[in-house]
Amino acid sequence: MRNITFTMIKPEAVEAGNTGAILNRMEEAGFRILALKKVHLTAERAGLFYEVHKERPFYGELVEYMSGGPIIAAILEKDNAVADFRTLIGSTNPEEADEGTIRKEFATSLAMNAVHGSDSDENANIEANFHFSEEERF
Ligand code: UDP
Ligand code: MG
Repeated sequence: MRNITFTMIKPEAVEAGNTGAILNRMEEAGFRILALKKVHLTAERAGLFYEVHKERPFYGELVEYMSGGPIIAAILEKDNAVADFRTLIGSTNPEEADEGTIRKEFATSLAMNAVHGSDSDENANIEANFHFSEEERF
């Protein structure tokens, strides 16, 4: 079944000039871009997006990092989108990410791991709706 996932190219990867290369990896893997934008999240918006992690020790740094520069936000469509995208990006910690994954190639650390990917269909929809209106999806 064709379904969606939500992704962000994180600030350090945008700053490093890797936006085009990372989007290319996504398209080459068969993901269709339904929505796309560059946005600088406020700390409040970044905090809301990652609210599920608010009790975790890294939450404060994560919010600071994700609001520290512009990101690229996108909705992607493909069969089995959520699971296939998690495979494409690799493990959260780039040291554990498989060869050929986006995080292996572009991440700089566990925190600065280049890209976000939704972890379930339910969260993909919540995250897509957090960033995009209906008029921004095609
Ligand atoms: N993160 C971190 N330290 C950790 C775990 C996660 O800085 O010990 C950051 C990292 O940027 C990660 C994000 O918090 O991508 C969200 O964590 P999650 O466990 O949801 O990983 P993901 O779903 O992004 O692989
Ligand atoms: Mg996650």
